[in-house]
Amino acid sequence: MSAGAYDVVIVGAGMVGACAAFALAGRGYRVAIVEAARPGESDDLSGAHYDLRVSAISPRSRDILEQLGIWQQLDDQRVCYYEQMVIWHQHGDSSIAFDAVDLARDNLGAIVENRQLQHVLRRACERETRIEWFMPDSIEALLENNAQGVEMRLGSGRCLTAGLLLAADGRNSPTRNLAGIIARAGQYRQTAFVANVDTEYPHRFTAWQRFLSTGPLAFLPLANGQCAVVWSCDDDLASQLVGFNDDEFCDALGEAFEFKLGRVKASSRRLSFPLGWHHCEHWLKGSVLLIGDAAHSVHPLAGQGVNLGFSDVETLARLIGERGESISQKKLRRYERQRKSETWLAGSSFGALKWIYGLDQKGVTAIRDLGMRVVDETPWFKRAIMEKAIQNIT
Ligand SMILES: Cc1cc2nc3c(=O)[nH]c(=O)nc-3n(C[C@H](O)[C@H](O)[C@H](O)COP(=O)(O)OP(=O)(O)OC[C@H]3O[C@@H](n4cnc5c(N)ncnc54)[C@H](O)[C@@H]3O)c2cc1C
Repeated sequence: MSAGAYDVVIVGAGMVGACAAFALAGRGYRVAIVEAARPGESDDLSGAHYDLRVSAISPRSRDILEQLGIWQQLDDQRVCYYEQMVIWHQHGDSSIAFDAVDLARDNLGAIVENRQLQHVLRRACERETRIEWFMPDSIEALLENNAQGVEMRLGSGRCLTAGLLLAADGRNSPTRNLAGIIARAGQYRQTAFVANVDTEYPHRFTAWQRFLSTGPLAFLPLANGQCAVVWSCDDDLASQLVGFNDDEFCDALGEAFEFKLGRVKASSRRLSFPLGWHHCEHWLKGSVLLIGDAAHSVHPLAGQGVNLGFSDVETLARLIGERGESISQKKLRRYERQRKSETWLAGSSFGALKWIYGLDQKGVTAIRDLGMRVVDETPWFKRAIMEKAIQNIT
């Protein structure tokens, strides 16, 4: 079978892999994308129904995508910019409200359908002459992997060589396993249900998050007036919700949300995702490098997973520079160091937040309540927290 030589091979054309391919091709690199899904599988943009998978995209990520010319290609009618964020807890009576005005910004972020963002990224890659696609295909074997480069055989039988192999193939990353990079992983013992719902009152362009002792519940505003719900539930509650019909689900959801937007009148079908975390001691082995969810996964309560992935892309592209400058191990190690410490911090803080908000004891409730009140009533502190969140830093 034929062999091809590339500067970079990227496995996985999810939002992060496709973004990396486009960013590196823009710097002159010859890139191959190997994607397991069939062409067109994620391309159904039609219609009134919004994708059930949406992401809260931070201003920092929007800047990254804007600089690549990607953000401008999104259908603005389907992007919902949110101006406020309100967080409160099931127990206690304090809340924290963040407002874009306090940061002298127009918004705190945007809710975008994953399908749309992925579609725009993939179309941009298809138009880029320096990118070649192998799809559907996957890596069957790594024939060689050392500091000088990699050689791999695909499921289709083709052999590819590259100076760098980027594993962007998601949380369970088969490429990470092939390279022998070990991931430490655990389960939150929670399931996230996602659905798009109609509420009695308008969402007011606000991202809402209520922490329940069984897990966080988010209502995110959509451009069509609906809310995208992400309800993370402990296993016991999750197994009850699975059996609920639509009316029962809407009632339970409204109650869990304290009817902040009135009744939940209707819900789309639901999807569910078991929630886990992982991080890797090493992100680089030979010339295989991890990026996006292949390198890290965090609880969706902070809406940071893909935002961290876009920061991975930005850091990598900046460090390796234009084609012609060598992709040295020194640069790759610097990427590994920078991104590992940042994402580790993110993962630990969200894990700690989830734990603190999950505690039910009376004393803890009082302290947490006090803490929330102090944050809410201390403008400089509130601004500092928010500035970090919108820059994808924790
Ligand atoms: C309920 C929920 C809500 C979330 N909300 C947010 C949010 O609001 N904001 C946010 O920033 N993040 C959020 N996240 C996290 C975010 O969805 C992920 O971080 C992001 O999708 C990761 O993108 P990725 O491209 O790294 O990986 P993936 O999206 O997993 O893409 C991996 C790609 O690799 C391909 N692939 C897999 N195996 C192979 C193989 N063997 N060979 C070739 N290709 C392969 C797949 O087909 C896919 O195209 C949420 C996650 C969940 C579960």
